[in-house]
Amino acid sequence: MHCPFCGTHETKVVDSRLVAEGQQIRRRRECISCHERFTTYETAELLMPRVIKTDGTRQPFDEDKLRAGIQRALEKRPVSIEEIEAAITRIKQRLRATGERELPSREVGEAVMLELKKLDQVAYVRFASVYRSFQDINEFREEIERLSTPAGEGETS
Ligand SMILES: [Zn+2]
Repeated sequence: MHCPFCGTHETKVVDSRLVAEGQQIRRRRECISCHERFTTYETAELLMPRVIKTDGTRQPFDEDKLRAGIQRALEKRPVSIEEIEAAITRIKQRLRATGERELPSREVGEAVMLELKKLDQVAYVRFASVYRSFQDINEFREEIERLSTPAGEGETS
């Protein structure tokens, strides 16, 4: 891999260890030219569970689709790309942490809502209203009221 400091094509791995409960490999690399050190993380995409749609069909986990849905909810909201990417990483970790090889799409949606709730409440309500397709205005109002109570209740992470 190329050195991010000087662009030299050759770097060597000086240390390699498992992190994130074995889901990632963290490598310390050193440039053979400028001797700067940097870190890379390697994650297997195959570890994501497949998604069971409501009609029972199975689909591969689609990170691009997940990102697009989150970005749509966050349109014109004051949330940075870094925060969005961190949220996507947490969603993927949460889904992987179930240890299941297949997960209902509902669980993916719930994981997204949990993150959006922390990121931006407007985006959360946007996503939830589409995703949960609130039955009536009362259900929608209840959700809004839940949001206006102090945060953090019933959440351990
Ligand atoms: Zn270098």
